[in-house]
Amino acid sequence: MTPLPSDLAYVPFVSVENMMRLVHETGVETFLRELAQFIEEDFKRWPEFDKTPRIASHSADGVIELMPTADAENYGFKYVNGHPKNMREGYQTVTAFGVLSSVANGYPVLLTEMTVLTALRTAATSAVVATYLAPKNSQVMGMIGNGAQCEFQALAFRTLLGINTVRLYDVDPSATDKAARNLKAQGFEVIKCQSAEDAVEGAQIITTCTADKQYATILTDNMVGSGQHINAIGGDCPGKTELHKDILLRSDIFVEYPEQTRIEGEIQQLAQDYPVTELWRVMRGEAEGRRDQKQTTLFDSVGFAIEDFSALRYVHSKIQGTDFAQPLDMLADPDDPRDLFGMLARAK
Ligand code: NAD
Repeated sequence: MTPLPSDLAYVPFVSVENMMRLVHETGVETFLRELAQFIEEDFKRWPEFDKTPRIASHSADGVIELMPTADAENYGFKYVNGHPKNMREGYQTVTAFGVLSSVANGYPVLLTEMTVLTALRTAATSAVVATYLAPKNSQVMGMIGNGAQCEFQALAFRTLLGINTVRLYDVDPSATDKAARNLKAQGFEVIKCQSAEDAVEGAQIITTCTADKQYATILTDNMVGSGQHINAIGGDCPGKTELHKDILLRSDIFVEYPEQTRIEGEIQQLAQDYPVTELWRVMRGEAEGRRDQKQTTLFDSVGFAIEDFSALRYVHSKIQGTDFAQPLDMLADPDDPRDLFGMLARAK
């Protein structure tokens, strides 16, 4: 799948600036559509991957995580943080970078920024999942939490499902103003709402995308009508959830990797053996997605390493023969592989 660069010592590096160029050159909606295809392809071959819950280092203010996975040809990992307080200090809540390597010789074939890429892959994953779970002909999405991820989600849902109207709510009205401005400029019908309850009114899809390091209750049971699809993005750490437990008890719950979601997702509120459906099985036609228009479906999204692997694989495929990557002098390359010291000595 991944032809190695001719000079193994130089690793292609995609900076934030080049990632943004790549997205614009591709077109953001084409990028989301193609990325969604890569993600769906990888979900459909789920058993081929090495899988483990991500390795998390928790602190009072946030978490730093490593997310590794591999198939027979490539190994990938993402470094990512989640610090809700960062935003108030002028920094991103979530930043990330990632590496794709060749399994054959262990050499990295890509190092890339993944802050922008994570927003794109999270949105593409949510939208591709919703093609299996959301009511047919959904047009209106309620969006609670209008921070960094918000517009990416809206664009992915328009691209894959045809959403054209968003109902926005955030505890911070300036976040809603920002998202409204950006989404109007992208041609959305935008309704600014005064409460979460107002935002979900008449929506076929509800996206919760808040950041708060606590068991929050962004949605209570009385706010969710039958037949709605909930795309719950923000509850993704132990002690950090968004939905009241009663919503979980009456929804059909779909997850990425149960071993990780039971630790980090909304279902941390439920018994360890509570029944959930793995999305890869739905995509392979081995388990049912949406059965009827009355069913309440919930994607308990936490973000899994395979989605990042798909994103790395996609970016790697896009940069071949382009100037979107700079060669990074990252790996020692002595003429005689055993003479590493000689190379150092001669460099004096
Ligand atoms: P952000 O800090 O940029 O935005 C979060 C927004 O939520 C802020 O505008 C804040 O005012 C708002 N908010 C907080 N509490 C709220 C409440 N009770 N009601 C309404 N709004 C509220 O963060 P972001 O980068 O947009 O990320 C959002 C969440 O998504 C984070 O929790 C992050 O960890 C999570 N995330 C999940 C995935 C995934 O794969 N599931 C990927 C990326 C980010």
